[in-house]
Amino acid sequence: NVDAHVVYVPVSARHFLVMALLYDITELKEIERMQMDFVGNVSHELKTPITAITGFTETLLQGAMDDKQTREEFLKIVYQESLKLGELVEDILSLARIDSKPQLNLTSLKIYEFIEDILTTFQPELEKKAIKVALQIPVTAEVNVDKNKLRHVVNNLIQNGIKYNQAGGQLWINVQISQKDWNLSIKDNGYGIAKDEQERIFERFYRVDTSRSRQNGGTGLGLAVVQEYVKAMSGTIKVRSQVGVGSTFTVTFPLELKDDLG
Ligand code: ADP
Repeated sequence: NVDAHVVYVPVSARHFLVMALLYDITELKEIERMQMDFVGNVSHELKTPITAITGFTETLLQGAMDDKQTREEFLKIVYQESLKLGELVEDILSLARIDSKPQLNLTSLKIYEFIEDILTTFQPELEKKAIKVALQIPVTAEVNVDKNKLRHVVNNLIQNGIKYNQAGGQLWINVQISQKDWNLSIKDNGYGIAKDEQERIFERFYRVDTSRSRQNGGTGLGLAVVQEYVKAMSGTIKVRSQVGVGSTFTVTFPLELKDDLG
């Protein structure tokens, strides 16, 4: 009960309390604003692929199907857009599910091949923005991970490294194995993130510089899900970044991962 407190504290402390209350309200307003932005972003992100899928299938059904080249071209777009839609829905569901006990499905995998496979799926985007990728990964190294969760983490970090980069930029993907743990870092020479934003980007819905982010598409959920998945695998995530220079995201996991997290 706040009023009861105010009665018993000296003036200076009371002043502090009022400030604290105001601060709370500002923070609430900020959360409210972020949630409204989120609804706007999600609606936009959902509508864009749905519009494309509906439009292209409609055109196909109206006769465009007869031409093989058009058919292939349109179906590719429909496929890409449904993948995007699937990922977005998956992110929203993951966040809804996340607070319950994380389930791990551990397998041993060759990290080099795993990353190469993921990069293949990014080839069109990388080519479109003329972004080069340099890999430094021990070719034979195997790590014990939850494959789907790790794929989600790497996908998101690479996606951001492309999205928040200029055309002609570069990505560096490094894996290092040490005694007790291993880490993977994804570095870009893109826009970079200001110091005071660096811890906030992992919050749900949070996006830096709304106008540029909006242009790029996204919901502000990506890194929140990434952080939860990393935690579920007993790992940590760190960011180092400088505006105008670029960002490095590093995830570190124990080598001996157990699936009974208690
Ligand atoms: P989204 O990309 O959907 O906005 P994320 O949670 O993945 O959501 O990222 C949150 C915000 O962090 C982004 O809006 C962007 O402003 C910033 N960000 C993330 N990754 C990078 C990066 N590699 N370089 C610069 N900014 C980034």
